[in-house]
Amino acid sequence: MEKERVRCLIIGSGPAGFTAAIYAARAELNPVLYEGLQPGGQLTTTTEVENFPGYPDGIMGPDMMEDLRRQALRFGTDIRQGLATGVDFSGTPHKVFINNDIEIQADTVIIATGSSANYLGLEDEKKYAGMGVSACATCDGFFYRRKIVAVVGGGDTACEEAVYLAGLASQVYLIVRKPYLRASKIMQERVMEHEKIKVLFEHNAVGLYGENGVEGVHLVRRIGEPDEYRYDLAIDGFFLAIGHTPNSDIFKPYVETNDIGYIITPGHFTRTNVPGVFAAGDVADPYFRQAITSAGSGCRAAMEAERYLSEHRL
Ligand code: NDP
Repeated sequence: MEKERVRCLIIGSGPAGFTAAIYAARAELNPVLYEGLQPGGQLTTTTEVENFPGYPDGIMGPDMMEDLRRQALRFGTDIRQGLATGVDFSGTPHKVFINNDIEIQADTVIIATGSSANYLGLEDEKKYAGMGVSACATCDGFFYRRKIVAVVGGGDTACEEAVYLAGLASQVYLIVRKPYLRASKIMQERVMEHEKIKVLFEHNAVGLYGENGVEGVHLVRRIGEPDEYRYDLAIDGFFLAIGHTPNSDIFKPYVETNDIGYIITPGHFTRTNVPGVFAAGDVADPYFRQAITSAGSGCRAAMEAERYLSEHRL
């Protein structure tokens, strides 16, 4: 196995990873950053970002990530394609395995692997993967122009995706398991007032059907109640927007996480229970999960890594 020694290894290429890279590169830590499966992270699947300071007219998610990437490159970050497939944090330097065939020995590691979309866990989601089931409206919405789609979820993501899809599809159903939306007031209003969006409150999707792709969804209204009602709804596309799970699995043998897998860091700091290993962005943030808060924690992680290296004369 090929081996390489680095001072600062950054895993992940969302706002946290690139911000950590900008700070680490300017501090001359010679950071190496592996981009992972989805270069640019979740923002590459978003449309317009309106709430990141510095862009008064908004910016498209992929364009913002390209800006961050260029800024990290400008200061000399070594950005590489590759996926961290395993780690050994039992001693120093820390070992991180890339694509199962490169061993990076790192004095400091910044974990910025983000989180991934959740699915309901239905067999049919797998059966129709790429055939009508998607967890990314911006990636796949284009295929549903003038068609009928459903979005599952009642949070900001679900509302945002429903509004986006309503710009393409002929009809959007929003399947919400509770009798209310959890989304922010402004997103709730946009959804409720949109003529192409119909909100199905107190509904659960329990299966999909179709010959060569999704043709409809099996729904249950008021599941488990005396007036429970089951029916089928014809749709062409089924979009999940029910939250995310942190991408922390490979670190769990060494790094402490909470019960749903978010890496535990104390207070304002990004340090983990493993000295020299830091976590930034959504992988360690069950609460804010914003581009700006991720970027802020990436900055803190790089500053802590720099102090760790200088304290340990590495
Ligand atoms: P949330 O956790 O806020 O919402 C998840 C939604 O999915 C909830 O309505 C939840 O229902 C529903 N859900 C979860 N599991 C299931 C299930 N098994 N079956 C049916 N429904 C289910 O996640 P989001 O991704 O929407 O948002 C995450 C964070 O990101 C939030 O803080 C949000 O505000 C923020 N965000 C901000 C945006 C912006 O500012 N532009 C855009 C998008 C997200 P229930 O309510 O019943 O639990």
